[in-house]
Amino acid sequence: MLFVLYLQASNSVKAMQSFREKLPAFQMKAEFLKAVAENQVLVVSGETGCGKTTQLPQFILEEEISGLRGANCNIICTQPRRISTISVAARISSERGENLGDTVGYQIRLESKRSAQTRLLFCTTGVLLRQLVEDPDLNHVSHLLVDDIHERGMNEDFLLIILCDLLPRRPDLRLILISATINADLFSKYFGNAPTIHIPGLTFPVADLFLEDVLQKTHYNIKSDFDSFQGNSRRKRREQDSKKDHLTALFEACSNIHTLSHEAALVDVDIDSTYKNYSASTRASLEAWSGSQLDLGLVESTVEYICRHEGDGAILVFLSGWDEICKLLDKIKVNRFLGDPSKFLVLPVHGSMPTINQREIFDRPPPNKRKIVLATNIAESSITIDDVVYVVDCGKAKETSYDALNKLACLLPSWISKASARQRRGRAGRVQPGVCYKLYPRIIHDSMLEYQLPEILRTPLQELCLHIKSLQLGTVGSFLAKALQPPDALSVQNAIELLKTIGALDDMEDLTPLGHHLCTLPVDPNIGKMLLMGAIFQCLNPALTIAAALAHRDPFVLPINRKEEADAAKRSFAGDSCSDHIALLKAFEGYKDAKCNRRERDFCWENYLSPVTLQMMEGMRNQFLDLLSDIGFVNKSKGANAYNQYSHDLEMVCAILCAGLYPNVVQCKRRGKRTAFYTKEVGKVDIHPASVNAGIHTFPLPYMVYSEKVKTTSIFIRDSTNISEYALLLFGGNLIPSKTGEGIEMLGGYLHFSASKSVLELIRKLRGELDKLLNR
Ligand code: ADP
Ligand code: MG
Repeated sequence: MLFVLYLQASNSVKAMQSFREKLPAFQMKAEFLKAVAENQVLVVSGETGCGKTTQLPQFILEEEISGLRGANCNIICTQPRRISTISVAARISSERGENLGDTVGYQIRLESKRSAQTRLLFCTTGVLLRQLVEDPDLNHVSHLLVDDIHERGMNEDFLLIILCDLLPRRPDLRLILISATINADLFSKYFGNAPTIHIPGLTFPVADLFLEDVLQKTHYNIKSDFDSFQGNSRRKRREQDSKKDHLTALFEACSNIHTLSHEAALVDVDIDSTYKNYSASTRASLEAWSGSQLDLGLVESTVEYICRHEGDGAILVFLSGWDEICKLLDKIKVNRFLGDPSKFLVLPVHGSMPTINQREIFDRPPPNKRKIVLATNIAESSITIDDVVYVVDCGKAKETSYDALNKLACLLPSWISKASARQRRGRAGRVQPGVCYKLYPRIIHDSMLEYQLPEILRTPLQELCLHIKSLQLGTVGSFLAKALQPPDALSVQNAIELLKTIGALDDMEDLTPLGHHLCTLPVDPNIGKMLLMGAIFQCLNPALTIAAALAHRDPFVLPINRKEEADAAKRSFAGDSCSDHIALLKAFEGYKDAKCNRRERDFCWENYLSPVTLQMMEGMRNQFLDLLSDIGFVNKSKGANAYNQYSHDLEMVCAILCAGLYPNVVQCKRRGKRTAFYTKEVGKVDIHPASVNAGIHTFPLPYMVYSEKVKTTSIFIRDSTNISEYALLLFGGNLIPSKTGEGIEMLGGYLHFSASKSVLELIRKLRGELDKLLNR
């Protein structure tokens, strides 16, 4: 029996070996290893799927094991995301016929599989950055491969600056930068014209269809499909009719815009101004895709067309966000717009998805089933699904950008870059010729940016600044000036100011002891401070839970057709607290109780909660607890009760929230029968419709703290908690005597409190004591 198992295993390794040998990367093995031996830095580029991630680290491993150094090599390969970190490590282990965690292992936040034998470790870039605190010269590493640098994530850009400084100190370290075919020169230049190896691709041709072609190709067929629906109910027919009208209008719009774009000589056509020449219906349909919304109807009919009229093969659909994925999933499974759902294997893929159920994405579907993968840009380059023949590209991605002037994150779907479009297209045609259905006209493609802006230019920088300080990399400004594309001065200044406000940096921009503590917690500095306050004020459980949800995602799900019920469930958790944070705290506590009675599945189902998120939160809570104990804020031997004396006091919980979330404060001002909300930076804002505070007209307390201020269709504060002025006076930022001498001001005079001298004195004393506790 054992022998048979052994034979099976070795057969599968043999099959894998012959698969490996067919990959384009394999042809370059000798050249690659020679270049690694001869150069400290090497840039490797190649089409997605040519074997960079799975083969290059493995080549080094094999070479080292067979060579003299043998057991001494220590290869690290960083990945931008958790999902690819695990799937790649698992893939290589099975290619080698080994168990995951033996020679090849992985480490991501909260999860690792590695052992003393591990010689090749895959980790997220974030994990490596944290290791740099203990091992600033990476003395334990012999080879470092930084994968997918073309994505220009903030962590990767940050790591590259550090490596530039580090390389002269570690002449024996080998650095291999791996990029898709985009922009490899940029990285080579950054490292003093490091040599570049390009792996030529081996793919089948992919036909490009822009919206005008898609409509032309599908229009006739869709029409005849519609006509054959004669026998259906009147409602169904009406639905089909309106779909047909929609497509006809789009069709008209497309041919118009096409003619027009030729007249305007194609360059920089301002869609908005040329727009006015169209009929109302054409304009409406143009808006459907040139506005911020995604035209899901168009995606649907394209997928439907492929299923009805094209040959076998998996379909990969790129959508702009999780919302759209859920909507389309619902339409296929519940509304059955493709017919019998059992004929389809529909798989959603998203960056923050749990790690289960992933094999299905790579495996071939059972016979008579068509695989349809619904993905966001995660499937652009970090995972490869071999059997994709059709790509449907909506052309959009939900991207955050950062408005430094208004200290505001913006999250809006916007057009992807040409580079992304190329990348998406390349996902078809891996096993046979493919087709890419681009759901935008050629003219839009021509006006797309060449490359996407790097993340470092699109996000607030406080966590990064704290990191720079903890690694003692000098002043933030001069360090970041060395980046591939340095962020602007205002963004840096905002981050420094924030860190000073929360007490992580002193006036000289040096880390305070509190700042040092915050560096060890792998979360946003505000959330870190909330954790410390929770421990100090014996309100630890709520702080752990809320911090886990804010650092990961909140556990409330938004079912498309049962929104009201879901809202009601969330409100009932909040009770009369006027707090989204209390709602998620109570939801988590309910889940824990239900778990004791083994009915957590039902509980989640009844209350519109995600069991996967709640489980993830449990893991994060434990990790936070360990870290708090490492830095001496919690002594585990005292038991949990020692830190939870006030955990059921909701006023206390709100005060802790205020301490953590400050300076994210809005003032609630009565305006007639309603309340309006004002921030210091951008004036009036709205409460996000998903908040339990949406639609409430009067609030018991005068201020509100919030986790996030986002601009989408308008400026919203998400997740808010109503708090008292006492919480602000005691826990919020720095107090400055007001000019009139009758009170205190905060947030540069924006918030004014009047109080008598003796009360002020008392508050000062209490704050002094608290400072000592936070800075111990
Ligand atoms: P690259 O990094 O160049 O994009 P990879 O090394 O990730 O390419 O993948 C090379 C090939 O290995 C892919 O084309 C795919 O066929 C196969 N492959 C990679 N990961 C898996 C997996 N988890 N399961 C099955 N096949 C995989
Ligand atoms: Mg790769």
